[in-house]
Amino acid sequence: MIRLRLSDIAALLKAPWYGEDVAIDTVSTDSRTLGGAALFIALKGAHFDAHQFLADVASKGAIAFICSEIPSPGLNVPYILVPDTRIALGQLAAALKHKLAPKTVAITGSAGKTTVKEMLYAILSVGTRAENALSSLPLNTPNTTTSAAVLATAGNFNNDIGVPLTLLRLTEQHRYAVIELGANHHGEIAYTTELVKPDVALITNAAASHLAGFGDVAGVARAKAEIYQGLSAAGMAVVSLDSEYSEYWLTLVQSQPLMTFSLSNPQADCYASAIQLNAQGCAQFILHSPAGDQPISLNVPGRHNVANALAAASAALALGISLAQVQQGLATMSAVKGRTNLLQVSPHLKIIDDTYNANVESVKAAIDLLASYAGFRALLLGDMGELGADARLYHEEIGNYAKNSGINLLFTVGVLSQHASDVFADQTSKTSSAHFSQRQALITQLMPIISAQQDVTLLVKGSRSAKMELVVQDLLERC
Ligand code: ATP
Ligand code: UDP
Ligand code: MG
Repeated sequence: MIRLRLSDIAALLKAPWYGEDVAIDTVSTDSRTLGGAALFIALKGAHFDAHQFLADVASKGAIAFICSEIPSPGLNVPYILVPDTRIALGQLAAALKHKLAPKTVAITGSAGKTTVKEMLYAILSVGTRAENALSSLPLNTPNTTTSAAVLATAGNFNNDIGVPLTLLRLTEQHRYAVIELGANHHGEIAYTTELVKPDVALITNAAASHLAGFGDVAGVARAKAEIYQGLSAAGMAVVSLDSEYSEYWLTLVQSQPLMTFSLSNPQADCYASAIQLNAQGCAQFILHSPAGDQPISLNVPGRHNVANALAAASAALALGISLAQVQQGLATMSAVKGRTNLLQVSPHLKIIDDTYNANVESVKAAIDLLASYAGFRALLLGDMGELGADARLYHEEIGNYAKNSGINLLFTVGVLSQHASDVFADQTSKTSSAHFSQRQALITQLMPIISAQQDVTLLVKGSRSAKMELVVQDLLERC
């Protein structure tokens, strides 16, 4: 964050301030992670009202508060009094973004946001990252903090709190900002887009995810479209031609500058041809673009990552980046933790760790990847959450999809995932599918099956709540 005086922040927020006019370099909203001289913004959440932590953060060195209740005078900490601290956080972030004005890309979609963000980060930071910083990164570290010229969302800070906190990390050095926008209800992306005011807005795709908040997939497509509606007149819309909602999105952006992408449709500005997966499942392809054709090699596995690369390339070209830089950035981008991470455990066993999260679209993409490997292919699936009233049908759809893709074994764990193993078992032998209520029981039954095979690939996947990374961890300890 750039240094601001408390009085400047109060003026931006049009709010009264009290106490000493201290200089602010950093902002915190969490007493558990506050590390010293920060401005603490007291948010009211579903579980806590952070006003109750003011004494705690004062003792940890907080130098000012933004709060909606008058703090105890005994604390003797300067403060700004606002009606709503969440709105104040957003206003401060939007004002900072406006002042520093980096070229900004906003990314939303049901799957692939973080991956496209990391790809775009890699492209935009070509030539600006210190060589030794790059080579000293442990394998699979997300490249979020190594370029001074590009700010990208860290981890999954993509909601109405995470997005403004990300914008507050901007400094004068940042020439670009790549911001991930997530949502579990209507209006959330409208709100965060308004804060971000992107120069380029991109939707990766729309699929069954967070349906409890959106009703159906059409509802998801409408909610994602809020990102296009938040574009200024000169803002560039990047639109996928591969979605059943492409036409709808194109109608919304008729008057905007436009860049389209597609896995294979030559009508798109950016599309791929000659896609080939190497032995590790990573794609090589030709990128066709308005700037010319370019061979591309990816370091992350799966055909779905070609779609992600096309999205990232489109946004980069929209910013005026060269094709050569797009190629170089995509070649250096490495896997993001928990997203189709290929672990070669032994010469005979590969694990695809895709445990970060799951929805119908992302499980199908991961099954496609699993099906592309030779040998014995097993899917270990936890529940997919937040799928509303049709959750059973969606799990059955996945069971059938796995069966039709030639997967050899489906083990499920949890509650809803049983519907997937049930349909998988229907027409295949009983031994190739089973459901477990405990992860441990699944692993115990799996171990002898793995040992009996020469060449095994395991795909481990489930929603965040299913904690399937514990299965990966356990397997790595045992194998
Ligand atoms: P979240 O909503 O949890 O933030 P995200 O949109 O940021 O998710 P990623 O973290 O990039 O998505 O990827 C999550 C998973 O979705 C990956 O592990 C992969 O299985 C799948 N995935 C990624 N990109 C695509 C895509 N273009 N199409 C389908 N599935 C995808
Ligand atoms: N919070 C905090 N210290 C704590 C617990 C919570 O500072 O020990 C903050 C938290 O970072 C957030 C606010 O209190 O800014 C509300 O927390 P809650 O868990 O309710 O947030 P939510 O569930 O909405 O994420
Ligand atoms: Mg994400």
